Amino acid sequence: MDHASTTAVRPEAVEAMTPFFYEKFGNPSSVYGYAMENKQALEQARAVLAESIHAKPEEIYFTSGGTEADNWALKGIAESCFKKGNHIITTKIEHHAILHTCNYLEQHGFKITYLGVDEMGLIRLEDLKAAIRSDTILISVMAANNEIGTLQPIKEIGKIAKEHGIYFHTDAVQAYPTQEIRVDELSVDLLSVSSHKINGPKGIGFLYIRTGVKIPPYIHGGAQEKNMRAGTENVPAIIGFAKAAELAMKTRKERTKKEKALRELMIDLVLKEIPYTRLNGSRKYRLPGNVNFSFQFVEGESVLIMLDMKNICVSTGSACAASSPEPSHVLKAIGLPDELAYGSLRLTLGEENTEEEVRYVVEQLKEIVGEMRKKMPGYERIRDYQQENNSLNQSGYQ
Ligand SMILES: *Cc1c(COP(=O)(O)O)cnc(C)c1O
Repeated sequence: MDHASTTAVRPEAVEAMTPFFYEKFGNPSSVYGYAMENKQALEQARAVLAESIHAKPEEIYFTSGGTEADNWALKGIAESCFKKGNHIITTKIEHHAILHTCNYLEQHGFKITYLGVDEMGLIRLEDLKAAIRSDTILISVMAANNEIGTLQPIKEIGKIAKEHGIYFHTDAVQAYPTQEIRVDELSVDLLSVSSHKINGPKGIGFLYIRTGVKIPPYIHGGAQEKNMRAGTENVPAIIGFAKAAELAMKTRKERTKKEKALRELMIDLVLKEIPYTRLNGSRKYRLPGNVNFSFQFVEGESVLIMLDMKNICVSTGSACAASSPEPSHVLKAIGLPDELAYGSLRLTLGEENTEEEVRYVVEQLKEIVGEMRKKMPGYERIRDYQQENNSLNQSGYQ
């Protein structure tokens, strides 16, 4: 129940990749016919991936994943637009691939506005408009949040960016598996995608760069990726990525429907069965497979460990932040007090999960949370006090 962290590679993708490890191991940059075949396969994969976001093949640049695509978009635009200005707008709930890149840019003289979000995790468009300055060069807002699943109004944000002549980047790593993306309709100029979140191999992703957007190369060396990202292409991974994306697009509607049904079942069961629990994020503007709860009077980390002993894999916050003792920056941004942020758990469902599994996990959760609360000194007194004062909004926000 941790599909937002990563997913298994589809057998069809493995099958498509396999010949490129031995029979077809040629370097796509070589001139002889044997390697030309690889070049063709590579370009075919690019076309499939371009089609998946309704872009042109020449606008797709392969990277080592979502993190590199995010780094390239931000540092690249910062460098190429420095003469125009040094102001960038993003949000407080971005993935660390964006936030830590922004911290880095701040150390190099850039000014960053971090937009706050409401209790559901949505930015306010008025805040965005108010933050725009004459020296703003880039707006970067994630399409879907990896912790609480909130879907941002990307089309509206794109429209505002376009009206002001500002480049717009979106980290679409989480949104890509289930949301239909049409780069023209969304008015995005740059968009990051990762393969391992859609049942493709790890270590591959792409950055979409709209034709005409001025951005410098990210890695210098050979002429690969039109001199923009040097280094011999990871052909097997690219082939596997394209196959996974092709199948993900074909199955998108059914997967979305199924994941959403499981999500709703889990939310309903947990809120009904486990008292003093809150759903974090929006119920409506939410990724189909994302569930995020705060359980009062317990630590999410301890619940995670107890679930792990039953071979149930979940997460608190994002995997990349799991070793940090700070509560999640996303939960803080939606206004949760530290106590509730520490008591949070993220469960992300995928197409292979079943209703039976969801029911089993809720049963285990109920037992673990119940046992832990019993052991907490003063739990009943605090509970009664809070009940009287009705201080917890049980169902969260709709
Ligand atoms: C997973 C993730 C990334 C990082 O992608 P990698 O391919 O693992 O580098 C970036 N942004 C979001 C929203 C993610 O969920």
